[in-house]
Amino acid sequence: MQKIRNIAIIAHVDHGKTTLVDKILHACSIFRDNEQTGELILDNNDLERERGITIVSKNVSVQYKDVKINIIDTPGHADFGGEVERVLKMADGVLLLCDAFEGAMPQTRFVTQKALALGLKPIVVVNKVDKENCRPEEVYEQIFELFFNLEATEDQLDFPVIYGSSKQGWMSTDWKVPTTDIFALLDAVVANIPPAPTNDGTLQMQITSLDYSSFVGRIAIGRVHRGAIKENQPVTLIKRDGKIVKTRVKELYTFEGLGKIRTTEVKSGDICAVVGIDGFDIGDTIADFEAPEQLPVIKIDEPTMNMLFTINNSPFFGK
Ligand code: GDP
Repeated sequence: MQKIRNIAIIAHVDHGKTTLVDKILHACSIFRDNEQTGELILDNNDLERERGITIVSKNVSVQYKDVKINIIDTPGHADFGGEVERVLKMADGVLLLCDAFEGAMPQTRFVTQKALALGLKPIVVVNKVDKENCRPEEVYEQIFELFFNLEATEDQLDFPVIYGSSKQGWMSTDWKVPTTDIFALLDAVVANIPPAPTNDGTLQMQITSLDYSSFVGRIAIGRVHRGAIKENQPVTLIKRDGKIVKTRVKELYTFEGLGKIRTTEVKSGDICAVVGIDGFDIGDTIADFEAPEQLPVIKIDEPTMNMLFTINNSPFFGK
């Protein structure tokens, strides 16, 4: 069994996702000396948007003890219907990160619902417990109720909850007992998120997002579902409509820290980036050269805007 955990992270804007991921990267000390920390990481999609590519999540990956944890960013909001589902398909578990004062926001309901419906195991992170007037217990109750209303399974309702302050760099199973590091969260991930299964057989990988490099052009990103993918391997690209294109893998990368490292083989369960596949689209399957088998096609919605009209239950309402 490979020791891999693939987790998606869901957070309302400003609830502390960037800060937390930054702290995780630090704790697993992946930063090389020349790399800057700070805003960076998950928030810099603007460039890609400008180029008109519908991106996409940034993957980061850390090694914790003997486990590789792939952290998959999700678009926090409901205006990327199909994208959310695709991205979540790379994960076996989900971290719902919430501000200990504001609680879960209606905007993250859609993504949370999708994650639960896909059967992902949730871990709740109640962040910012250093804030005055925070109400971590109420937030926990609120999230329990939310999951219940979203028809979470019993196992999903039995979610672990971790409290802490990303800003101060600690996570704990008890918000009244601060620690000095964020390892309680990583331990919870390793203990509770199912390991990525290894599926034997011929290659199957669904392209769930893409990256772009001015040197090599478009890069296909996805999770290897079955078998293994290798550098220079002749493969079949199965388009969403079933059309078949014979092609070849040129270069192969896995995620490490904030970047990617070149490799020669990626086995099922891990997430990788593939260079050399011409003419791919999101949702296509990269499969065996001789006996290609398509993975179920995922629905690609046009970006839509889902608005939720709810009562104003903000503690500031009326003030
Ligand atoms: P993101 O939009 O979810 O990526 O949120 P950021 O990580 O950018 O954080 C938003 C703001 O909340 C920043 O000003 C952070 O410094 C602050 N913040 C993040 N985590 C904490 C925390 O645990 N406690 C407090 N007090 N502030 C935090």
